[in-house]
Amino acid sequence: MGSAAVTTHDDALAYKPKPGSHAGRVVLVTGAGDGIGQALALALAHQGSTVALLGRTQRKLARTYDRIVELGAPKPAILPFDLETAAAPEYDALEAALDSEFGRLDGLAHVAGVLGDLSPIEQYDVLTWCKVLHVNLTAPFILTQTLLPLLRRAEDASIVFTSSTVGRAGRAYWGAYAVSKFGTEGLMQVVAHEMAETTRIRVNSVNPGPTRTAMRRQAFPAEDPARLPEPSAVIAPFLYLLGPAARGVSGQSIDCQPAALRRAPAET
Ligand code: NDP
Repeated sequence: MGSAAVTTHDDALAYKPKPGSHAGRVVLVTGAGDGIGQALALALAHQGSTVALLGRTQRKLARTYDRIVELGAPKPAILPFDLETAAAPEYDALEAALDSEFGRLDGLAHVAGVLGDLSPIEQYDVLTWCKVLHVNLTAPFILTQTLLPLLRRAEDASIVFTSSTVGRAGRAYWGAYAVSKFGTEGLMQVVAHEMAETTRIRVNSVNPGPTRTAMRRQAFPAEDPARLPEPSAVIAPFLYLLGPAARGVSGQSIDCQPAALRRAPAET
């Protein structure tokens, strides 16, 4: 990691948005009904963004919507969408809806994800493997491809992928989840490189580290959740990368928590 990357990392971790820092931006957040995606959607709205809330469960999206309205923030949009089953017509309809409502996209935050099984490769269920790779890696690829025309229309567009510690160093039993997150890092780098050639769109990845969510509970059912940060405590780097403070930053992999915390006891 060069010194520019170190500075970016420090800036991302220390980022404290000023009121209205993200005003006027239109940002799509996947997984906006729960966990880290919900916290990010609320924070973006609080800073003045109009947020398009994408997720699988309409009821959860409606809860996020209501909380944003209670904040008095710009009215969000709800986009029920199943990343596991969606095919070309659903992606096209999503793009058309965003185009007619907003005409452009300033941010795309890929936060939705599934854990799959924690199991040795010898026993890993093949269908679960395919599902995890699809939801965590292939669907973000298709969504990015579909929405690039809208991102190109924005002055200062930003794409953020959500990674994991096991997406940067493989560990036993993390199976498809770890491989999908390695793929996410690769996808981020490929898109960042391509965008740098022809556009001002920046593309980065964020590893939240262990965070108190349903996915973490699924991975570590015996762990005391009280020792983990809340989702709202890990989103500063996402906000940084999605806002004007990170103009020109691209191709970076950011960690939200120090390495010592990320090592105990294992990661999602
Ligand atoms: P949660 O389980 O709390 O939230 C996951 C979100 O993804 C939910 O909103 C869920 O929607 C959505 N989602 C899952 N499958 C689909 C689908 N097929 N279509 C649309 N949406 C879907 O997880 P976290 O908040 O913990 O995770 C967010 C991201 O952070 C993930 O990418 C995860 O890998 C990553 N991460 C999390 C860590 C942690 O410790 N929590 C650590 C490192 C990385 P619904 O509830 O409706 O199914």
